[in-house]
Amino acid sequence: MSVSTLQKPSLVTRLKSGLGAPICLTWELTYACNLQCVHCLSSSGQRDERELTTVEAKRVLDELRAMQVFYINIGGGEPMIRRDFFELIEYAVTPANGADGIGVKFSTNGAFIDAANARRLAAMNYLDVQISLDGIDAATNDAVRGAGSYKMARRAMDHLAAADFGPFKISVVATRHNVPQLDQFKTLADSYGAQLRLTRLRPSGRGADTWGDLHPTQAQQREIYYWLINRGEEVLTGDSFFHLNALGDPLPGLNMCGAGRVVCLIDPIGDVYACPFVIHDEFHAGNVREAGGFARIWRHSDLFTSLREPQSAGACASCGAFDACQGGCMAAKFFTGLPLDGPDPECVIGNGSTALAVAVGVPVAVELKPRPAADHSKHARRVQ
Ligand code: SF4
Ligand code: SF4
Repeated sequence: MSVSTLQKPSLVTRLKSGLGAPICLTWELTYACNLQCVHCLSSSGQRDERELTTVEAKRVLDELRAMQVFYINIGGGEPMIRRDFFELIEYAVTPANGADGIGVKFSTNGAFIDAANARRLAAMNYLDVQISLDGIDAATNDAVRGAGSYKMARRAMDHLAAADFGPFKISVVATRHNVPQLDQFKTLADSYGAQLRLTRLRPSGRGADTWGDLHPTQAQQREIYYWLINRGEEVLTGDSFFHLNALGDPLPGLNMCGAGRVVCLIDPIGDVYACPFVIHDEFHAGNVREAGGFARIWRHSDLFTSLREPQSAGACASCGAFDACQGGCMAAKFFTGLPLDGPDPECVIGNGSTALAVAVGVPVAVELKPRPAADHSKHARRVQ
């Protein structure tokens, strides 16, 4: 190995120190949603009066274009509920001022994808659609996403296929109840010429209350790992399962926590958080309405600067698997009340469950367990 190779920082090291622009920016357009999924990471349901206007949202897109953000993930709530949804995504993907368009991938429950909207989406470039589905049948899916949501999602898939959209994504949150259905999800995706995306259930938003019942068992964690290893690049996972790398070879995908380094969230009212799963004051970096906008927050906020510093391995330092699993997901630890420099609650060698048992054994720790910043659920009081 040459000296110059030795001196070059690895890709992970470079990503950990942050990039000039996020490579995985999620923008939740609204807290409004026609559904009320029990694991919703943003506790969506009702629109917030403070949501960005069309003009403000376009200003943010101009800024992202100037920063050369390559693509954005749009979500919600249900983003298609916004009346200016098509106006905004068309604005994003259209080249302007000598700069390329911004690719858009948006997540939807499918309620508003009828035949006409499917054709409109299929006619656009730089656009990808992810339909959420958490069960291979109505019973499994609707128990989590609500009555009628399975049918709604399948109808949207049928419309996209009929409109020749191409390989859209089917996005599945892995739960205790659907892990036995992994092969069937893959068969379903293949039948549409779609791509399967499997994501991890985090205890964020309403998921804080349902995680205990829904998160996969230790045996299922192993099942997910070996199932994914056998599928290679065929199944997308983002940064969902790098905590499972402690079991052996690394899975494809982003094998580190990118929060504030390559990942961040802009929420519907313009607040910027380190990642979509940490909507809490502790991970709030600023608001796009402030002077300097998003670029200042991304490049100079105290929070993001500190997240780009080397992090302590803490209680995981003595674990032989630390380099592979990096101690797991910050959001999963935070919302289960575990220390950020300790093991992930789903640590595959069991250290997370031990830490959780200690935490739940101490009443004060349960009371102090962090709660999401705001609740936009339909039963909740409207946020002013
Ligand atoms: S906190 Fe978890 S979900 Fe958020 S970027 Fe890090 S690993 Fe991903
Ligand atoms: S103890 Fe920490 S580093 Fe080791 S496998 Fe568990 S979470 Fe990963």
